[in-house]
Amino acid sequence: MVVGAGIGGLSVAALLARGGVEVEVLEKLSSPGGRARTLRVGEYKFDMGPSWYLMPEVMHGLFRELGRDPSDYFKLKKLNPSFKLKVGERDLEVPSNVEELLQVVHRVERGAGSKMSVYISTVKQMYDLALKKLLYRPFESLIDIIDPEILKEVRSLNLLSSLHNFNRKFFSSDLLLKLVDFSSVFLGGDPYRVPGLYALVNYPVLGQGVFYPEGGFGNVVESLVSLGTELGVTYSYEEEVVGVEVKGDRMSAVRTSKRRVEETCSCSTPIMFTRSPCCLTTTGTSVPNTGKRRPWLLPLCWPTWD
Ligand SMILES: Cc1cc2nc3c(=O)[nH]c(=O)nc-3n(C[C@H](O)[C@H](O)[C@H](O)COP(=O)(O)OP(=O)(O)OC[C@H]3O[C@@H](n4cnc5c(N)ncnc54)[C@H](O)[C@@H]3O)c2cc1C
Repeated sequence: MVVGAGIGGLSVAALLARGGVEVEVLEKLSSPGGRARTLRVGEYKFDMGPSWYLMPEVMHGLFRELGRDPSDYFKLKKLNPSFKLKVGERDLEVPSNVEELLQVVHRVERGAGSKMSVYISTVKQMYDLALKKLLYRPFESLIDIIDPEILKEVRSLNLLSSLHNFNRKFFSSDLLLKLVDFSSVFLGGDPYRVPGLYALVNYPVLGQGVFYPEGGFGNVVESLVSLGTELGVTYSYEEEVVGVEVKGDRMSAVRTSKRRVEETCSCSTPIMFTRSPCCLTTTGTSVPNTGKRRPWLLPLCWPTWD
């Protein structure tokens, strides 16, 4: 059982099915997608959540892991300009082509073109390291984070300082600082408080460019559902999980609005659900915090030293 048909739950379900497991996804709403779902009004479709398709290699990697070519399912369009930044009365159209971007920023701040070129290669180095060392690692123990390559990067770039201070080493105008500071919102942070490591998000935003799935984000969701269906996943909508049973530190059964299902489960809902009073074990106690605290959270949560 996988609880939740958001992008996370759909991906987990497909991966399990590819591994030979019989999988059913339980979703409380009438359609899949979760925060990335689509609202349909007449002939119009509205993306309810994401509109920036960044880091295409991640979703492509998932499709390849599932033995499929993503372009058989949905097409991506690279946006140009990538986006428009508005600061007070000033607008900045950000081109997707890096050479053009260097010229645009040079017009805003003298000499900023060459600084932007160095900035993009610096954040690319951080981004590549994050893909290699952070993104796909479970971080079961603290030892995992004590990685010489990560520590070297943190020291040499002074990533214990705030994102804003990291960015100030490159740019001075308010407009360009906003351009490189605002991406911290993607990680739910404030550029004056989150560590400089967050600058790595600027590589997909400024270096790779922003993509959009043709036909809307709903097409990515539908692709994951069709791919899951091909692999044998079944989906039950309008079936809310109202309780879970726990054996040891694992969920062993779920109670839904319609039935009790005894199966190994994976919960792909926001943490508020698994920690909320509505999600009680059959004995009436709240679900134990089975998610062991992962030290991998540390690099993204440490206080900055400014
Ligand atoms: C406005 C907005 C804009 C965003 N923009 C971007 C963007 O541009 N780019 C980007 O990459 N990301 C963006 N995001 C983030 C992205 O949408 C989410 O990170 C992603 O969709 C989360 O997927 P998920 O599967 O982890 O969780 P969710 O999408 O939350 O999926 C959880 C699912 O579980 C279901 N569920 C919950 N409780 C139960 C229950 N008790 N029983 C059964 N089912 C249950 C929910 O209905 C939901 O379908 C944005 C998010 C929002 C809200």
